[in-house]
Amino acid sequence: MTRRFPIACAALVALVACSAGEAPAPTPTATAQDGPATAAASADWPIPACRDDSGWDEPATPFHVHGDTWYVGTCGISALLVTSPGGHVVVDGATPAAGEQVLANIRTLGFDPADVRAIVFSHEHFDHAGGLAAVQAATGAPVYAPKEAIETLRRGASDPSDPQFGLLDDFAPVADVRPIPASGIVQAGDVELHAVPTPGHAAGGTSWTWRSCAGDDCLPLVYADSLTAVSRDDFRFSDHPEAVARLRDSFARVAALDCGILVTPHPSASALWDRLGPAATRPLVDPGACAAYAKAAEERLERRLASEGAGG
Ligand SMILES: [Zn+2]
Repeated sequence: MTRRFPIACAALVALVACSAGEAPAPTPTATAQDGPATAAASADWPIPACRDDSGWDEPATPFHVHGDTWYVGTCGISALLVTSPGGHVVVDGATPAAGEQVLANIRTLGFDPADVRAIVFSHEHFDHAGGLAAVQAATGAPVYAPKEAIETLRRGASDPSDPQFGLLDDFAPVADVRPIPASGIVQAGDVELHAVPTPGHAAGGTSWTWRSCAGDDCLPLVYADSLTAVSRDDFRFSDHPEAVARLRDSFARVAALDCGILVTPHPSASALWDRLGPAATRPLVDPGACAAYAKAAEERLERRLASEGAGG
């Protein structure tokens, strides 16, 4: 019962902070159900002054993306909060140092980490999974992982089969890791996230899609995983046709997604900071963004394979 109260409080009390001692904040839950309130809330949460070259641990103030979706990551690494009156989902934990920032950002928005019911992530590298243990400790929510990533998360260290093995930092092991349900859907309250397997950059790479609504204004949100072919120096993708095939399958899946707003684990990879606020130079809502993101990754892979063939 106590875990449900803060959500009800946020939903019902428009202008009064729910916790004593906290400054009144815009009402996040109300924005999910009330079109006009969404615009007000967006204006009330300014876009942080982040750049493409911002550091991974550089703090960002949280902000409203659309409808039920909020940005709670750092300037350099994304994390999202998807909310509903019945519970929230955190998408990605960012770096080991940033897990606490993610939690602080959730609190700043007026949400209670205890109302998070599920945690998902993009892939099992320290810059996206490093903060998961801290987020789990504060929320008590399970982390849902594809089977390829479960042991890596429990160990807090990458698998030797990873193309970047040897370059990747360890991170705090995650205690409660559960397989993504066979349906591919992770649910919390009214939030329903659909898993799209996109391995290649990492074995457990997963993209996530959901409907985000502001009143009747509903959009497909896509959190598309990293698709880059990067490795340690002695790994050649041309020696691993299965790895190349996984990447190409992932490009095709991402390109085919119903794309409204694209967010990527590295915000710079999808030009997030150029797509926000009054000075935006590109649209935030772009049905072609997923296909363009996949195409850029495909071109990068082709260049990589060509350079390997040339002895590079
Ligand atoms: Zn990675």
